[in-house]
Amino acid sequence: MPHPFHWQPGDGLRHATLETRPRGGFTGEAQVETLCGASINVDDSAQAWLWATCPECNKVAHVLAGIR
Ligand SMILES: [Zn+2]
Repeated sequence: MPHPFHWQPGDGLRHATLETRPRGGFTGEAQVETLCGASINVDDSAQAWLWATCPECNKVAHVLAGIR
């Protein structure tokens, strides 16, 4: 079963979100609610995907994925 969340960089960290990713990705101005409770401005640039993982989102993502 696929996990209900996906990773989305924004505001300097790679966060995870439950929001549906549009085909082709979010536009530059899109805002998404993340698993850590923040609202981020998405950044789909190549370097954004190399940012560090948000520790709070990582924690929640592990719980959602059933991994401890
Ligand atoms: Zn986060």
